[in-house]
Amino acid sequence: MGWNLLMNGLHIRRVVLDKDASSYALTRQILAGLPGVPVHSSGLDPHLFDGEPGKETLHLQHYKGDFLKPCPGTREYICCGYQILNLAANCPLDCSYCILQSYFVNQPSLRVFVNLEEQLPDVLQVIDSQPGRIFRVGTGEFTDSLALDPMTHWSDMLLPQFSRRKNAILELKTKTTRISRVLASGYRDRIILSWSLNGPWISAKEEKGAASIEKRVEAARQCQSEGFILGFHFDPLVPYPGWRDDYARTVELLDRRIDPGRIIWISMGSFRFMPALKPIIRRRHPTSGVLNGEFIIGLDGKMRYFKPIRIELYHVIRHLLEAWHPDLGLYLCMESDEVWRSSMGWSPKTSSGLREYLDQRVVKFFNGTGQPA
Ligand code: SF4
Repeated sequence: MGWNLLMNGLHIRRVVLDKDASSYALTRQILAGLPGVPVHSSGLDPHLFDGEPGKETLHLQHYKGDFLKPCPGTREYICCGYQILNLAANCPLDCSYCILQSYFVNQPSLRVFVNLEEQLPDVLQVIDSQPGRIFRVGTGEFTDSLALDPMTHWSDMLLPQFSRRKNAILELKTKTTRISRVLASGYRDRIILSWSLNGPWISAKEEKGAASIEKRVEAARQCQSEGFILGFHFDPLVPYPGWRDDYARTVELLDRRIDPGRIIWISMGSFRFMPALKPIIRRRHPTSGVLNGEFIIGLDGKMRYFKPIRIELYHVIRHLLEAWHPDLGLYLCMESDEVWRSSMGWSPKTSSGLREYLDQRVVKFFNGTGQPA
């Protein structure tokens, strides 16, 4: 069985350490938190441990690319102009629908970029050099923002820096309840804690390793009561028998626990994927139901539900949410003007229109002016 460390729900069986990653403070801190876990030098064949989930191998790397990058939207759909702070690649959770399974098919390990502290000044310099622009930054695109926080302590490094900037917000998006470090931090301004939500049935069946919807909403309630502004993401929406009642249950839960007046935005996105993901889901998650449905190939080459199905999904969830509160900053992720109009009753028309709408939410919630202090 080998070594297996269970730390706050994280199972790390081994560490692979690149030569140029060994001198970093983050490397030392992570290794100090993993006593007894064997450390291998890099060059290890990633398939050496076939049969075991690669997610139990932690690979500490020196990342040579840019840490801050625009979210890879496509011209064909309206996208929100989000910026991604690239801290890691891959995720310890194992959602059946996760797109990362096809992105990192040849690098199944959990990669953490240990030179973040060294590169952070460059990221902040990019933000500070454009004071008239609002940077909406998230860390949850290529990993879950908080799943690794008990081990990496990313929030200790990032919250103080983003909290003091007047033209940026940092959104930490998660499906976990690993909130202890953010709660202890004392930083609230310009920090958004977000949870990805779904119907309880989809969550239980398709989101392996994630907290239940009930536990996520409870963690969100706790963070809101401690002064954080919240966001939610209903993504990926999946239609299945009983989906309307199931999503209604999630909205009822929000209604019981969360103050809607302190939610900056709620996004909706329907399940979409590159065709290469399909055989991976079939192989890794043989009992998954996410591939049951009518898909077409979208303008961006991704498979997505037939348009009337997407419109119905958004329309139903929108009405559930608006019946709860009329001003939740609802928006669609990667959809067309036509789908916006049919399901939401309005459209930002273009990506810059959506950026403006979300920037105004930032100004409203954080009293920002778009100008640095
Ligand atoms: S939480 Fe997000 S990144 Fe992690 S496995 Fe699920 S979909 Fe992928």
